[in-house]
Amino acid sequence: MNPPVSKAREARLEFYRKKGKVHAKAVQGRFNGLRWAMVWLTQIVFYGACWLPWTTAAGRRQAILFDIVDEKLYLFDLVLWPQDALMLAFILILAATALFFTTAMAGRLFCGFACPQTVYTSIFVWIEGKVEGDHLARLRLDQSPMSARKLLIKSVKHGIWALVAAWTAITFVGYFTPIRELLPAIAGFQTGPWETFWLIFYATFTYLQAGLAREAVCQHMCPYSRFQGVMIDPDTANVSYDSRRGEPRGALRQSTNKGDCIDCGICVQVCPTGIDIRDGLQYQCINCGLCIDGCDEVMDRIGAPRGLIRFTSERELAGRPQAATARWRPRTLVYVGLLLVFTALGLWTLNERVLLRVEVHRDRGALMQESTAGRIENNYILKLINMEEAARHFRIGVSGLPGLRIEGTSEFMVGPGRVRTVTLTLSSPLEGMPSGVQPIVFETVALHDQSLAVREKSTFILPTH
Ligand code: SF4
Ligand code: SF4
Repeated sequence: MNPPVSKAREARLEFYRKKGKVHAKAVQGRFNGLRWAMVWLTQIVFYGACWLPWTTAAGRRQAILFDIVDEKLYLFDLVLWPQDALMLAFILILAATALFFTTAMAGRLFCGFACPQTVYTSIFVWIEGKVEGDHLARLRLDQSPMSARKLLIKSVKHGIWALVAAWTAITFVGYFTPIRELLPAIAGFQTGPWETFWLIFYATFTYLQAGLAREAVCQHMCPYSRFQGVMIDPDTANVSYDSRRGEPRGALRQSTNKGDCIDCGICVQVCPTGIDIRDGLQYQCINCGLCIDGCDEVMDRIGAPRGLIRFTSERELAGRPQAATARWRPRTLVYVGLLLVFTALGLWTLNERVLLRVEVHRDRGALMQESTAGRIENNYILKLINMEEAARHFRIGVSGLPGLRIEGTSEFMVGPGRVRTVTLTLSSPLEGMPSGVQPIVFETVALHDQSLAVREKSTFILPTH
């Protein structure tokens, strides 16, 4: 049971709780440092990776590019085609399993440190702090009537937000259209319709989500917060208040018979989602650990041990013994097993990948025809997909019927990362042949490397006797 709190103290706490926009107090500490390290890391990668050039046999290109027009995903030396959808499925399964694993181990760790919503909100709030001042100055400004000063300060803040949102949108689209081509196109108002749409959409989305909606997304919109409950258990380490140690809470001077919580409200003031962790585990908590930093600072000042708020499990908080193997329980072991299996499957698929695909289609125009030489001919359309970033020569052979051969050339050059469609005529002698639809095989081999070969089944139609 929490002790009664004085009216003045409660009013002070209410000032910071769920009353409109949250203006969290800045705090220093381990978790704040980690949070900003993640902001720097993710943003250096995001804003920087699209500028990396990459040189291949086919020339220079952007190292990471989702080329929608050519339906290819470039990741340094790796080029994924629509035919490699299985690889993308493995990557998605791995990401989902890693999220489940992290949640089972330490709750919404992803939300607190790596979620784009958290990262961009941190950046936008940092800008707000630089322009408007600390959390109290921001609160006062919000509550003050409109004036020329307020209008100027708000305009500067929103202007900087708009610039950051615009650059974020340009960077995002720069992963789909080479960024070195995109910038001049934007400068000359020559972007295509889909680029224009995504630039406007992504800039608006960033501005609204990180600048205006911010913690409301974590509090009310995030679906992950709603189903995290099924992914955690009593052994999951979450940011928690140790009420056995903290209660009864009260001011330091009040009594001797009280817990370590001095009811200063710092943990509420620093919380970016505006909740009071002392009320217990709440779905709005993003496990950012800022209340730990705030409370540790208070504990240092009053000479009490740190950790009144800490990452700990429900079992440990209840004073029940926690097995040394609690971290590696069946749930987490299953996730680790799945991570290993899908990583191995992904690597194996990547290793076994043949950089040549061939699609064989029968010419639907005519089933068969007889040549002047008395042979039966069937026509085919072959799609040769060269998935290497170098031009390759391929030789096509056929088998399955005695005397079956290709009329005309059977060697073709395909450009780097290109698809070439060729028309082939196959002919077969009539004498002594079976009748009707007969199975045949096309074998396509790269001249530079005989191991680069693909066999595709098809059929050859002969007259019925
Ligand atoms: S910061 Fe620590 S001491 Fe202060 S109210 Fe929160 S839990 Fe209590
Ligand atoms: S309660 Fe603590 S860990 Fe949870 S969101 Fe607030 S500051 Fe972060």
